[in-house]
Amino acid sequence: MKTDILIVGSGCSGLYCALQLPRDKKITMITKADPESSDSYLAQGGICMLRDEDDYQSYVEDTLKAGHYENDRKSVDIMIRSSQDVIRDMISYGVRFAKGPDGALAFTREGAHSNKRILFHEDITGEEITSHLLARVKELPNVTILSYTTMIDIIEKDNECFGAVVRGQDGNLFTIEADYTVFACGGLGGLYRHSTNFRHLTGDSIAIALKHNIKLKNINYIQIHPTTFYSEKEEDRSFLISESVRGEGAKLYGKDMKRFTNELLPRDLLTEEIYKQMEKDGTKFVWEDLRPIPHDELVRHFPNIIKHCMEMGYDVTKECIPVVPAQHYFMGGINVNYESKTSMDRLYCVGEAACNGVHGRNRLASNSLLESLVFAKRAAGDMARNWSRESEDINSIVDLKQYKDKKLDERYHIMVEEAINKANGGRPIKVAYREIS
Ligand SMILES: Cc1cc2nc3c(=O)[nH]c(=O)nc-3n(C[C@H](O)[C@H](O)[C@H](O)COP(=O)(O)OP(=O)(O)OC[C@H]3O[C@@H](n4cnc5c(N)ncnc54)[C@H](O)[C@@H]3O)c2cc1C
Repeated sequence: MKTDILIVGSGCSGLYCALQLPRDKKITMITKADPESSDSYLAQGGICMLRDEDDYQSYVEDTLKAGHYENDRKSVDIMIRSSQDVIRDMISYGVRFAKGPDGALAFTREGAHSNKRILFHEDITGEEITSHLLARVKELPNVTILSYTTMIDIIEKDNECFGAVVRGQDGNLFTIEADYTVFACGGLGGLYRHSTNFRHLTGDSIAIALKHNIKLKNINYIQIHPTTFYSEKEEDRSFLISESVRGEGAKLYGKDMKRFTNELLPRDLLTEEIYKQMEKDGTKFVWEDLRPIPHDELVRHFPNIIKHCMEMGYDVTKECIPVVPAQHYFMGGINVNYESKTSMDRLYCVGEAACNGVHGRNRLASNSLLESLVFAKRAAGDMARNWSRESEDINSIVDLKQYKDKKLDERYHIMVEEAINKANGGRPIKVAYREIS
């Protein structure tokens, strides 16, 4: 198969990139599952936007502070300065953000934000954004989406990328030749026993990058979300109790039902506090109390969380719920420049799989949808501006027989796990006292 641009992944970054590319280019998008099964659909809390110039310094400072000042300051500036433009695009695609009684956009707050600067749509902001992006992409005659089609390698010669080797829905292997390839493969929570991510997000692009010596950055910077619903069941995916719940007033208690911390600490610090409390109490969870949130606000803002807890046997309007930290987000990834270009020619990387340094060591809540969108648009702009074609006989590069190995996926997982542990000084990253995988 031949295409102009191959986009691997149908989350918000891949979809927005497709929408921003020139209409005269043939674009092929592939996705490992159905197009709706991406973490972008799961985002609850919201998406940040610079409200006005008065908030600029404080927004920068909150982002840097959460990231332990290891952030790339230019990336942070680009993200914040581009936020209004991206939100305008979202609204033009039909995305509905919550509004106040005066009809103006409403803003909420999450942990480690010193101001209210987060736009939201109930507690399903990601679904609202991504479903509209997907609908707009489906209207484009130049874009084809192939579901259940998995990238298992790239086609590479002399540090130049000419597309990918993929496994189709029927298990058959084939190549997709492309002038440009964009990794938009999301995070790697699927490697962890407890994660809020979809199980099929296993850091495939990281494994492929390791195989081809594509530069990586900070791959041991993995965010653990402090509050996911605790269940004894071996659940497929940990259900997130959004940070904005705490932003609106929810409290955390130890087994004595007393507060033990500041609920609005950055995620990594709060996670540590929760682990400490669990150890002290000898418990597998702590309690979260949503009742301090005014009832109207609770019902209006968090219907999805209320419903999930009810299904798990807890009425949040009457009782506390058990919560525990789980793997949530990947700050590191494939090293990219400000235009989302990787160290390999003709290869870009956007969204959670990429590391442009915005998040530093720890992500500030609601910065990731924004970062994914801002840098996906920049990738599209860069490709359009610098378009070039180079013909290559890919048959001389690819031998499909080598991919028949049934253990390929497993080998990729081990490669990523080992690389993360190595980057972490040989120490496995634990989640709720369980090691990776
Ligand atoms: C529960 C939850 C709540 C969140 N809440 C928020 C929030 O409130 N605000 C915020 O800013 N961020 C939030 N995030 C983070 C945010 O949703 C993600 O960082 C962002 O959506 C990532 O988008 P993406 O396009 O990079 O990847 P994703 O949306 O994860 O999409 C990845 C895509 O890549 C495909 N893929 C992966 N590997 C392959 C392969 N080998 N071949 C083919 N396709 C492949 C997948 O099928 C999928 O389509 C949340 C995340 C979770 C899990």
